[in-house]
Amino acid sequence: MTEVWVSKEVFRYDADSLVKAFFPGRPVKNHLLEGISGDILCTRIEAESIETIVIEIPEADILSGSELRNILKREIYTRLKEATGRELPWGTLTGVRPVRLASKLINERGTAGEAREALRELYYVSEEKAELAVEIASRQRQVLERVHPEGLTGGVLPSYSLYVGIPFCPSRCTYCSFASYPIEKWRDRIDEYFGALEKELEFVRTAGRGKNPDTIYIGGGTPTSLDEKSLEKLLELIAAKINTAGAVEYTLEAGRPDSITRDKLRIMKKYGISRICVNPQTMNDETLRRIGRHHSADNIRNAFHMAREEGFGNINMDIILGLPGETEEDVKYTLDEIARLAPDDLTVHSLALKRGSVLKEEWLESAAEKEKPGQETETSSDNISRAVKLSSDCAASMGLKPYYLYRQKNISGNYENTGFARPGSEGIYNIVIMEEIQSLVACGAGTVSKRVTPDGKHIARCDTPKDIEQYLNRIDEMVERKRELFKDEL
Ligand code: SF4
Repeated sequence: MTEVWVSKEVFRYDADSLVKAFFPGRPVKNHLLEGISGDILCTRIEAESIETIVIEIPEADILSGSELRNILKREIYTRLKEATGRELPWGTLTGVRPVRLASKLINERGTAGEAREALRELYYVSEEKAELAVEIASRQRQVLERVHPEGLTGGVLPSYSLYVGIPFCPSRCTYCSFASYPIEKWRDRIDEYFGALEKELEFVRTAGRGKNPDTIYIGGGTPTSLDEKSLEKLLELIAAKINTAGAVEYTLEAGRPDSITRDKLRIMKKYGISRICVNPQTMNDETLRRIGRHHSADNIRNAFHMAREEGFGNINMDIILGLPGETEEDVKYTLDEIARLAPDDLTVHSLALKRGSVLKEEWLESAAEKEKPGQETETSSDNISRAVKLSSDCAASMGLKPYYLYRQKNISGNYENTGFARPGSEGIYNIVIMEEIQSLVACGAGTVSKRVTPDGKHIARCDTPKDIEQYLNRIDEMVERKRELFKDEL
């Protein structure tokens, strides 16, 4: 067991998350240290494999809270690096949006080079990751200027984006923690679900007052798990309430290849879908079976070719690194197969074991059986590190450039998820949502709407229940909450 004590509540999260990053997969208990005088910040770290670390920092000469936070994190990082012999690619950064910091540093320091230096010196970010974060921040600016030529005003984009959630899938993947229910169970009640969506979309129509969303994203779940008739009904419903032609990007997640048919692709084209996602996760049949996806790599190839034949010029593919049982050879094979297909956009995720996923439960069970609770997954940081490098090399060889990046808690080896795209094919929705630079109206069960204030400093949220029954029963309340969040105007 690893334990951390801090003398001030406000530093508990920073200390805890940094220690967790050094000991991924191990439980960390944190406590408040009692009896420390007001002007000394004290931290104590105890872990099985290292000698106890005690850090004491006098607060007297330090000006701001954030300065103190950074000093503390640098000190913890240095001491843990000495004790474990490890370095973290993202240094002291434990948040999910390192690109946001890079963008802020470019604004403050004036050049990309100085922002890179600041990431290295103040946050101990590795040279490679500092370069990556700054490169992505600079590219995002260019992409966003295509949407609003005046660029970011006060760090945010005007207008809004729209998300529509369809929480149904053909089967449940073992790593899934999203709102996802078997389509077969709900097929008879799809119209009821659409009825609730219609109420939410009517709110968007009136609150939007003729303003188009910049981007529209239909996700889930797997929207293509709807049959042809229902898919057309959904797209018709959206088109009746929203000026979809006014959006710069209209994406539909056709995630599972076993749910894609030529007729569905034609329906999507008819309603102006400009970007789709066909997500293999891996091109190895054995792994696909192991993670609960009832389709083969051949299904993926066929769905992809069919989408190209139907005229889809912007196709994203998602893969996951660190899937159970996968070796470096498996990852290489997946990347080679993806390169053969040549998608326009490739998103590389590192596996995150999330609460509620079957995989997390299985992992906890197997760790308990081995009487080694909290051990790392079989996918070590080194393996993930090599797989991350293989993926970015593969993306580069296809002419795809990194354009968005985020990290999540419990991610394998403390790495990140990165989106690569052919210049001009970047998923704009991904940028605005991950960087939280535009308000998002999200409709459907298990979705979260966000209102970003014009100065970009505050974000208010409201969510809808993941449980579909509850979402249906409380739909009027959901609409009222959105009205309250957006003050009746988008
Ligand atoms: S396709 Fe996506 S949403 Fe559906 S079960 Fe798999 S991971 Fe979850």
